[in-house]
Amino acid sequence: AQRLNTPETDIIRSLFFKGIPVNITQTLDLETAKMVAEELEVIVETPEETSAAVKETEMLDADDLENLQLRPPVVTIMGHVDHGKTTLLDSIRKSTVASGEAGGITQHIGAYHVDVEHAGKQQQIVFLDTPGHEAFTAMRARGTRVTDIAILVVAADDGVQPQTKEAISHAKAAQVPLIVAINKVDKPDSNPDRIKQELTEQGLVPEDWGGDTTMVNVSALKGDNLDELLEMILLVAEVEELSANPNRPAKGTVIEANLDRNRGPVATLLVQNGTLRVGDSIVAGSVLGKVRAMVDDMGEKVEEATPSFAVEILGLNDVPEAGDEFDIYPSEREARVVADQRAIEQRDTRLLQSLSSRRISLSTISAQAQEGELKELNLIIKADVQGSVEAILGSLAQLPQNEVQIRTLLASPGEVTETDVDLAAASGAVIIGFNTTLASGARQAADREGVDIRQYNIIYKLLDEIQGAMEGLLDPEE
Ligand code: GDP
Repeated sequence: AQRLNTPETDIIRSLFFKGIPVNITQTLDLETAKMVAEELEVIVETPEETSAAVKETEMLDADDLENLQLRPPVVTIMGHVDHGKTTLLDSIRKSTVASGEAGGITQHIGAYHVDVEHAGKQQQIVFLDTPGHEAFTAMRARGTRVTDIAILVVAADDGVQPQTKEAISHAKAAQVPLIVAINKVDKPDSNPDRIKQELTEQGLVPEDWGGDTTMVNVSALKGDNLDELLEMILLVAEVEELSANPNRPAKGTVIEANLDRNRGPVATLLVQNGTLRVGDSIVAGSVLGKVRAMVDDMGEKVEEATPSFAVEILGLNDVPEAGDEFDIYPSEREARVVADQRAIEQRDTRLLQSLSSRRISLSTISAQAQEGELKELNLIIKADVQGSVEAILGSLAQLPQNEVQIRTLLASPGEVTETDVDLAAASGAVIIGFNTTLASGARQAADREGVDIRQYNIIYKLLDEIQGAMEGLLDPEE
């Protein structure tokens, strides 16, 4: 009922008329839940269905199938904090940089490639070094698939930890093949067999125990056995037959983006199909641009980027979001039309999201109060100084609360922050700001999550509106 933004009683009533008697504490099975949702024109997807859909969002079109060429694997490193993700990435990079380049300054662009001898040829692997986990989850939540293979780092002296389990479920849900790097085996107290045991309990059975998960013992710190890890990555990549069509305009995903004071909007793009070139007319998310310059992970200016490679580009008109997809268009005019269209669509989706999410505002509360359905009013109060906080709390306590109880979840001096918005969204609260401002990001988060932030600088106006809402008297337009 909450997710459908529908009163529980409506659902119970509609099921009753179908001959399905249920009470409010009962759990519906999937089929019934789907039926209820579909009646309200909401589509229900199970996690399995979602991951199948994600699998399908690979960036190939029918035309590409004739022109496929193998491409390097794109790898994300995941694992619990302090298990050695950063150290592993660093030492892989160091161990593979040719001695001539050793002194070269590498550029941080959120992704880098390494060259590895494999099966008699020089091959490449691309590592995403945005904080693996978050990038992976954030992008997956948006249906974007950027990773071909996940490396799960588990410290041999510490074992499976909460983030290890989380990483396993993410990789499973996204159907991304996983290779385990059992790290820190140089430590005297390390015990790789115990780790294998613990991983087996999580459903990852090592190959040498008859399972199908590749596990490699490494020491990221000493650089031991990294060759074997890289070898395993390439073997898995071979099985996956990762391919793309380099002979077409590029498409892919924004890995990182920010506004550089001197250079303007800067974005790292992962090319997932086609070839990206300087001069291309691009749309990333809803942002229009023309690729003015590209820099690779070695800090070199380049003219083009082929599938699986990441480059930092200049020339976007604004900052897109990480996880946005990008496409290239034959002309600036066509790109502009698409960008405008996307901007409209994006606005509509946001609007829809904010409407469909459990939108709690003073006016919906007022409407509920009118119906006699409101029992509790959750508030988060932020004010300029502690004195104001206390004054507001004192005055709120004076309001009659026979019908509706005020529950203050948080009352403190300071700006309204994104964390406040998250709390409000999670608990169906309204945020009251008194003589204070919004921290950066708070407004966007509130719009996205459908949270009502009310700002006041006169205390009786604040009290008036809250009392009005509790009594169901607030104008719905407010
Ligand atoms: P992250 O949080 O997963 O990125 O972990 P870090 O790479 O920052 O490593 C955490 C700590 O473990 C650091 O002090 C590293 O020096 C240490 N460490 C990482 N790998 C190894 C290893 O193979 N052996 C040993 N002995 N220490 C390691």
